[in-house]
Amino acid sequence: VSGNGSFGSRPGPGALLELIRATGAISRAELARRSGLGRAAVSQRLDRLLAQDLILETTELPSTGGRPPASLVFNAAGGVVLAADLGATHARLAVTDLAGELLAEVAEDLGIERGPAAVLDTIAAQLTDLLGQTGRTPADVRAVGVGVPGPVEFATGRPVSPPILPGWDGYRIPDHLYRHFPVPALVDNDVNIMAVGEHRMNWRDEEDLLLVKVGTGIGCGIVAGGTIYRGAQGAAGDIGHIRVAGRDDVICECGNVGCLEAVAGGRALVRAARELGFAARDSRDIVALARAQHVEITRLVRESGRVIGDVLSGLVNAFNPQVILIGGDLAEADEQLFAGVREAVYRRATPLATRRLRIARSVLGDRAGALGAAVMALEHVLDPDYVDACCDAEATSPRRPRSTSARSR
Ligand SMILES: [Zn+2]
Repeated sequence: VSGNGSFGSRPGPGALLELIRATGAISRAELARRSGLGRAAVSQRLDRLLAQDLILETTELPSTGGRPPASLVFNAAGGVVLAADLGATHARLAVTDLAGELLAEVAEDLGIERGPAAVLDTIAAQLTDLLGQTGRTPADVRAVGVGVPGPVEFATGRPVSPPILPGWDGYRIPDHLYRHFPVPALVDNDVNIMAVGEHRMNWRDEEDLLLVKVGTGIGCGIVAGGTIYRGAQGAAGDIGHIRVAGRDDVICECGNVGCLEAVAGGRALVRAARELGFAARDSRDIVALARAQHVEITRLVRESGRVIGDVLSGLVNAFNPQVILIGGDLAEADEQLFAGVREAVYRRATPLATRRLRIARSVLGDRAGALGAAVMALEHVLDPDYVDACCDAEATSPRRPRSTSARSR
């Protein structure tokens, strides 16, 4: 909230909630002053937020003496969101409160090739179990955030021609999940949610950030001006299929030749390691071999880093981020990957674009996706327009069934 300037002529409950969250605690009088609303209008909006369990009124805050004025605070315990970060072979699930505080999480094996209906039923059952561990009920769930390993049309939550998700093309993930949890479901690709998770948890002060996931494939999440940049068709950041000069000898799964992920991704490293006589099956084996300092493997990883860095140098010139974070399985390899990336980026990108550029490992590691999915869900349910709509719906129809656990604490 940037102050009075962000309010329209009639700020609704959602705008007041933003102000309460931004200030931490605020009195009714101060809310009236800051919003420009009369006392009665403020009270009417606060009643709706109280009915939605989104705020609490407390008198237990520090006071300078005399009777402490009643203060309004955000009720982080007033609900939960569910998060699922789906990968090709495993899923990470989480439950957070409305402040994004992790209440429970679990990693599960997942055969995403079983198709969307079977996989989503399994995920819903696992999320219900996880929810039970937190002592919350399905009635506490406000939204579900889901990340999938492929491009997604964000507005509808439908995967778009996902190469590694046979049967998921065009599937309405939110509609399916609605049968289990009748709340909004937000779906985005796995790299975008990782970028959101890292940005909100660790890099909030940086406006422009790239998160590059280097695993079996290679993708990039773009945070521009503080928000995720998806592009016209949701395909922004799909850098895995940018052509690497001089590597047309490599055929990519997409049908093109010389694609970045076919040259430098986990699958390429596994193949190269096998040709050198190592028994590597997946990216994690490469990480183990690199950490064990097998010279041929560290050399391969460093060269991958250079090739990735070459492509990133183009992105740095075009986009001028303050931070590039490297995540994904291969980010866990030794420093050689980062050394290769840094070497190529600083050699190829312009000095102005790299002057303050930081290249670092993803802090959240393999939890970035699940936390990012939770953040995506939270930002939806706390968005002022959505809050206003919920308050209006409650005012005009019977109260929707909700647990009273938040108020009984
Ligand atoms: Zn390709």
